[in-house]
Amino acid sequence: MMMNCEKASTLASAAFDRKLSLAERIGVWAHWLMCAPCRAYRKQLLTIRRHMGRLGDEASTAAPMDDSAKARIRRRLREFESPSSND
Ligand SMILES: [Zn+2]
Repeated sequence: MMMNCEKASTLASAAFDRKLSLAERIGVWAHWLMCAPCRAYRKQLLTIRRHMGRLGDEASTAAPMDDSAKARIRRRLREFESPSSND
């Protein structure tokens, strides 16, 4: 039922570029309620976007994340998903 972290993070960044459907918004919000790492990830995205915003809207839409940044985030997400504790 609950979407996984990868899907939630994809939607979190997609939300900056397009309007999410109602189902997507509900799904991603439900995930954020349950998943602190993804909330932190979203906060990071917002911070990055704020920084980019200073460069102007054109720059932020024209400059996609570079591959090394994507790889870094994917690595972080895998760390989040590997169960280091069971509570
Ligand atoms: Zn998550």
